[in-house]
Parts: sequence; structure tokens; C-alpha cells
Amino acid sequence: MKELIFASHNQGKIVEIKALLAPFPIQVLSSDDINLPDIEETGETFYENAKLKAEEIAKFTKKPCLADDSGLCVDALGGRPGVYSARYAPNRDFEKAMGMLLQEMRQSGQTSRAAHFECVLVLAYPNGESVSFEGRVDGVIAQEIKGKSGFGFDPVFVPNGFDETFAELGAQIKNKISHRARALEKFAAYIADKGL
Ligand code: IMP
Repeated sequence: MKELIFASHNQGKIVEIKALLAPFPIQVLSSDDINLPDIEETGETFYENAKLKAEEIAKFTKKPCLADDSGLCVDALGGRPGVYSARYAPNRDFEKAMGMLLQEMRQSGQTSRAAHFECVLVLAYPNGESVSFEGRVDGVIAQEIKGKSGFGFDPVFVPNGFDETFAELGAQIKNKISHRARALEKFAAYIADKGL
């Protein structure tokens, strides 16, 4: 059984990745299973942040490491909050953050409500090699906050082809079409082809 480190404390993400890799002879160890140092996200892109986290942890543990970075990009705000999505919320209060986002959109004078979630996964090896996988889901920002499921900006994001927010649609639908699900699918296809 090979070991893969997943550099995240986010239970939702950990559950998703463990389920996805269940068919493979791979044991996933997350930041909750072993003590991993927190790596500061100093990059300017999702790729840079995911790569620096995966590389640092692979070097630290001497095992292959998967890390991700993700966020919400809003056209009317020039792609913000983007890589700063987690930090956009004052004290991680996303109720407040979504209120601020809707307000910013009203003030922008732009009519477009187009937005997308993006996720980049990087698999890094202790020898310095790495490979990346991207996923994206397009949609619009709702006029108001709606729904209870999910996390972060889910209650204001309506994916294309649906009339409800991610938070109204629920995990089953979200986990089939989300940016993270799409990046994870590519990662799983890579592992099925090349192994870990
Ligand atoms: P990170 O990838 O854990 O750094 O999270 C980035 C931030 O992007 C989160 O704190 C959320 O604000 C936002 N975000 C990323 N993915 C999602 C999602 O699937 N739903 C809602 N918000 C998300």
C-alpha cells in the first residue's frame, strides 16, 4: 500500500479524496492524521499556491503529496476574490463575505453576474517532480444568499444549467459537477494510468 499525503484540514475535501481513491492501493493521510506544518499561501495564482504547499509537504514527509487551492472568480469584479477567496471573509464569516460580495457587485456598475469556481491540484514528489490538474465550473452569482448546504460561497453560486445555488442543490449534485470534482477526476485518471 503506497501512502499519499493530502495537505488539508478541510474535512469535506478529505472525505471526497478518500472516497475517490478507495479503488486504488493507496492510503491517504491528511493533516488530521499526521502533524503537518501549515504552509503560507504566498502565491499569486491557484497553481502557485497548490504547488508550493505540495512541494513543501513532500519534502517534509519524504512522501508524494497532493495539495489544492481553489476560489471564486467574479467577472464583474475583475476575477476577484480569486486566490484571496478564503481571506475575503472577515474572521472566516462567509455570511458576511457573501453580503460584501453582493454589495460590491451592485457598486461595480457592471451588469454581468458571470462567475466561476476554480480548483488546481498539484501532486508533488520528494524528488521535486510535480504534476497539476485543473477543474472549473461556470455559473452566475445569485441576487441573494440562498440554501444551507456546502461551505464558503456556495449559497450565492448558481452553476450553469441549474436554477438553484450550490447550497440549495446539495452535495450529491455539487460533487458531480464542481471544480474540485473535475480536478479530482483528472487526478484519478492519472493515477489509474501511471500509478502513484
Ligand atoms: P482553499 O482552497 O481551502 O484555500 O479555499 C479557498 C476559498 O475559496 C474557500 O475558503 C471558499 O471561500 C472558496 N471556495 C473554494 N471552493 C469552494 C466551494 O466549493 N464552495 C464554496 N466556496 C469555495
